[in-house]
Amino acid sequence: MELFYDVALNELKHWLEEHGEPSYRAAQIFEWAYQNDVRSFEDMTNLPKPLRDALAQDFSIGPYEPIAIAEDPDTHKILIAMPDGGEVECVAMGMEGYKSACLSTQVGCAVGCDFCASGIGGCDRSLTAGEILLQLISLRATQGHIRNVVFMGMGEAFHNYEAVCESIDRMTDKRAMDLSPGHITVSTCGVVPAIHRYAHEGPRTELAVSLGSADQATRDRLMPGMARWDLADLMAACYEFSQVRKGQPVTFAYVMMAGVNDQYYDVDRVVRLLKAQPHHLNLIPYNEVPGRHYMAPNEETVSTFYRRCRDEGLNVSIRRSKGREIEAACGQLRRREKL
Ligand code: SF4
Repeated sequence: MELFYDVALNELKHWLEEHGEPSYRAAQIFEWAYQNDVRSFEDMTNLPKPLRDALAQDFSIGPYEPIAIAEDPDTHKILIAMPDGGEVECVAMGMEGYKSACLSTQVGCAVGCDFCASGIGGCDRSLTAGEILLQLISLRATQGHIRNVVFMGMGEAFHNYEAVCESIDRMTDKRAMDLSPGHITVSTCGVVPAIHRYAHEGPRTELAVSLGSADQATRDRLMPGMARWDLADLMAACYEFSQVRKGQPVTFAYVMMAGVNDQYYDVDRVVRLLKAQPHHLNLIPYNEVPGRHYMAPNEETVSTFYRRCRDEGLNVSIRRSKGREIEAACGQLRRREKL
């Protein structure tokens, strides 16, 4: 049975045609599924009963009940079993005045970043566009309206390029979820050819790049799956993105780890790397992961790093990981359930 959220509007029109139904029903069905978040086709009360039955025969519709939940006052994280196997986690976070969802793009991850729980065990498979959307639908079932989306959960978004773009199409389509592209951030660890491609043909979302370190050898060690591209190529791709998108800055996520990339000279390297690039630098103190040997830097180190970047003219902020107590860093809840 096909997951309903994998069906594009045109495909649904085609399906309706095959079932002798008028194509205008497609917009009605999309409205029920994406704007009213109904849990079954039976609840689509303005559709004829035979059509509801036919839909239920061919498609499954969410939200899916989580198999594990972890939460604190700001953060609600769920683990969902996907219809075709595999478990993925996603998070809703309360920001100032709105909610943001962090979604996964793969079951596991092949990049194998040395500091991340998602890479442990490699990548089982990529998610479909519908499975990505299903996470958002499932979070909305208990969290209500979610304004922002970031693709920073399990998986490397650009290793699943097509499905990520397709899911964004449905998120931003007025007849589906109607989110603003400017409220969506695609995050990558630095798949250089995909950044070039996304700059030219991708949806008009924000782009975030996880830097790891501004030192080539340290970055290669921390993010072995990205070692085939050097930092100069990565920065050239980011620069091209900003040029094509008329000056739009790239957000650089810099996860700070004690003694690894938080030293005095690391500031100089980061400044040299970013100064000529339209950027926003997010300093993220490390969220410690069981089984990984990295540690969070102390407060003073983070503040000094921040002040020096700011004084050198960088556009910088400190982003605290939400849900520190609930294993909110990607991959941790799934891993805990497997142990
Ligand atoms: S940080 Fe991202 S790309 Fe790296 S292993 Fe974790 S999920 Fe994969």
